[in-house]
Amino acid sequence: MGSSYKLFSVRGIDIRLHFTFPLILFWAALQFGLVGGGVESALFGVIAISLLFVLVTLHELGHSFAALHYGVPVKQIVLSPIGGVAQLQEIPEKPIQEFIIAVAGPAVNVAAALVMALFIPVLGLNLGDFTAALSLSAGLTVTAVFAYIFVYNIFLAVFNLIPAFPLDGGRIFRSLLAMKLEYVQATTIAATVGRIVAVFMGLYALFNGGIFLVFIAVFVYSAAGQEAAAVRTRHTLRGYAVQDAYSPNAYTLTPYTTLQQAANLMMMSGQSNFPVLENETLVGFVTQQDLSQAMQTRGGHTWTSMIMRRDITPVSMSTPLLTVQKRLGTEQLNALPVVENGRYLGLIGQWQIQHFFSLLVNKAGVRPTIIQSA
Ligand SMILES: [Zn+2]
Repeated sequence: MGSSYKLFSVRGIDIRLHFTFPLILFWAALQFGLVGGGVESALFGVIAISLLFVLVTLHELGHSFAALHYGVPVKQIVLSPIGGVAQLQEIPEKPIQEFIIAVAGPAVNVAAALVMALFIPVLGLNLGDFTAALSLSAGLTVTAVFAYIFVYNIFLAVFNLIPAFPLDGGRIFRSLLAMKLEYVQATTIAATVGRIVAVFMGLYALFNGGIFLVFIAVFVYSAAGQEAAAVRTRHTLRGYAVQDAYSPNAYTLTPYTTLQQAANLMMMSGQSNFPVLENETLVGFVTQQDLSQAMQTRGGHTWTSMIMRRDITPVSMSTPLLTVQKRLGTEQLNALPVVENGRYLGLIGQWQIQHFFSLLVNKAGVRPTIIQSA
């Protein structure tokens, strides 16, 4: 996810700042400085937004700890100008687990609001302090910053509870539906509601000149569709294995194929990943990226054996397609070689899975156990 800078880690979860993160602080300094008219307001903006991101981080840690509780690994939390993302390895399909993981984020903000509310009488805050802080007419004081954070912390909880993917509210809504309905159906309904909410959000933002909110609405609209499509694909592919979708006739290289020959083959065939075979045994693997990099640094006369990857674990005929997809994602590959009892059999990748999926959808109800021509 682009380049980011590690701040620290909690229970093995890296908290990282996306490289664009400083933009939000510049924006805060500029925006607050212009509205409030001065350096003090600019500083107010930077402090207030930084503290809000502390609350965003706690919110993401809420999701993360709930995920860890259910044994779901959390890779990292990345903070970017549009908010925070906790990268979970997967979202459990058990409704109660998804519900708890989704609720845990906003719950942190609610808890923070309750704790902060205790300080309102201590600091002697009244309504005037809140309106002054929000209109940036209060000076840079602890009370004013507190009032600002207090309101926006509540806003964080409420905004995230809007029932639209990928917001927490969308996941909560789906998990509640999934307690009664089938998972795919629950997702379809939640995604449709999410899109309707996004349309209203977008229209409201257009008429009120909230350009930032328009972007969020567009993002939410497309994310809802993507979530529904991903779940549909996952459920359709469930129960199928490599043997149903792999290409037995994919082009292969030998260790002595030159990079130029490999590049020509790639251009001619449109295939972008090549198993490397020696005496019909898999000895390596070359991706499009490996090839184009090596062509530049080493030249076209280099042998494939000099650049091929030797550490790729092949899949077998009975490996579930969902497992293949997961591996392609985590290992950032487009395809994997298929090997059974030490014998190379073919190639399986995004392309083959997509092709198989479209065959399945077009022949609904027919179960093609082996499609070897993919
Ligand atoms: Zn959240």
